Amino acid sequence: MFKFSKKLQALPPYLFLEIDQAKRKAHAEGRDIIDLGIGDPDQPTPKFIIDCLSQAALDPANHRYALDQGMPVLRGAIGDWYKRRFKVNLNPETEVLPLIGSKEGIAHFPLAFLNPGDLSLVPDPGYPPYKGGTILAGGKPYLMPLTAQNSFLPDLKKIPLSARKGAKIIFINYPNNPTGACASDDFYTELIEFAVKNKLIIISDLAYSELAYDGYQPRSLLEFPGAREVAIEFHSLSKTYNMTGWRIGWACGKAQLVAALAKVKSNIDSGIFSAIQLAGVAALRGGQDYLKSMCALYQQRRDILVDGLNDLGWNTLKPKAAFYLWIKIPPKLEAISFAARLLKDANIVVTPGVGFGQHGQGYIRLALTVSQARIKEALERIKKIS
Ligand SMILES: *Cc1c(COP(=O)(O)O)cnc(C)c1O
Repeated sequence: MFKFSKKLQALPPYLFLEIDQAKRKAHAEGRDIIDLGIGDPDQPTPKFIIDCLSQAALDPANHRYALDQGMPVLRGAIGDWYKRRFKVNLNPETEVLPLIGSKEGIAHFPLAFLNPGDLSLVPDPGYPPYKGGTILAGGKPYLMPLTAQNSFLPDLKKIPLSARKGAKIIFINYPNNPTGACASDDFYTELIEFAVKNKLIIISDLAYSELAYDGYQPRSLLEFPGAREVAIEFHSLSKTYNMTGWRIGWACGKAQLVAALAKVKSNIDSGIFSAIQLAGVAALRGGQDYLKSMCALYQQRRDILVDGLNDLGWNTLKPKAAFYLWIKIPPKLEAISFAARLLKDANIVVTPGVGFGQHGQGYIRLALTVSQARIKEALERIKKIS
């Protein structure tokens, strides 16, 4: 009866449907499922952050509409954190914008810059809102394949002139979901040059910058010369402090880009619950020790899972950051059917790589978001069916 908009029709189909249904069925049957599919931390939010929320929630001053642009104290804490972490000095008044989770900011940003038919350059495989936000703004995603041969970095030289001319935005995300890849300094330098030359806005999604292993410290794109003229960077407290359900993140970078996103958002939402903003301040100011222990936890899980899979002949690498393993399926087994088989025969859920884009075909993604004991159990089960 109703006719969907062209934009809605152009959104990609939801490719996890099949595996979601199978997972629900398995749960309903009471099977003991090990879920390596979810990119959502299993550990609770640290208590000092929850305590801050509890206190702030009691204060009536926090019950009213929040400021669209975020509380000055939060913007200041974000600025301080950037200075401490990356030695980048941001102006909290003009170069920082709190978000209701970074996903909404990423998805809304293209509305500020794309006209119908404009392109955005999108990594494939990639986090789905890059594509979705582009399409909802009337734009068209141009896919940049991330392949093992290119260390899962887009090959900028291969982007044809027509795409460079038609594009206004390029999305990048390192440490990367779903591949676990990290960007080299050379890549960032080349990217900035590419963006300047082709008049592109760079959107850098830095959601995983704080989850890194073996002493590695991911860098911000804004540390690199020239970046602050062409880039906006998105951050989130979701993965860093186990706060996915709270919905708090931010965008920062060139003032003109930040202001454009703020204008879009002022027509759509009315800011983050003030008590959550204050809890965010507590997280940014006090979470260092806690973060160290989380990285140690993920690193141990990573080592057990990767070593265990390699003992079974899987040939898997240890990612330096984020909490995903991106694993090539034996060529005979197509990705969705392999994920289905792991669920059917071993009660293990993994994410089919093709859900992140066509170049994810032939891969599965495993998340390090279950306990060591469950990882060991999963390895036993995989051994049995191998
Ligand atoms: C989890 C994730 C985010 C964070 O999303 P929030 O909306 O802040 O919870 C952003 N980008 C990527 C690539 C992610 O995987």
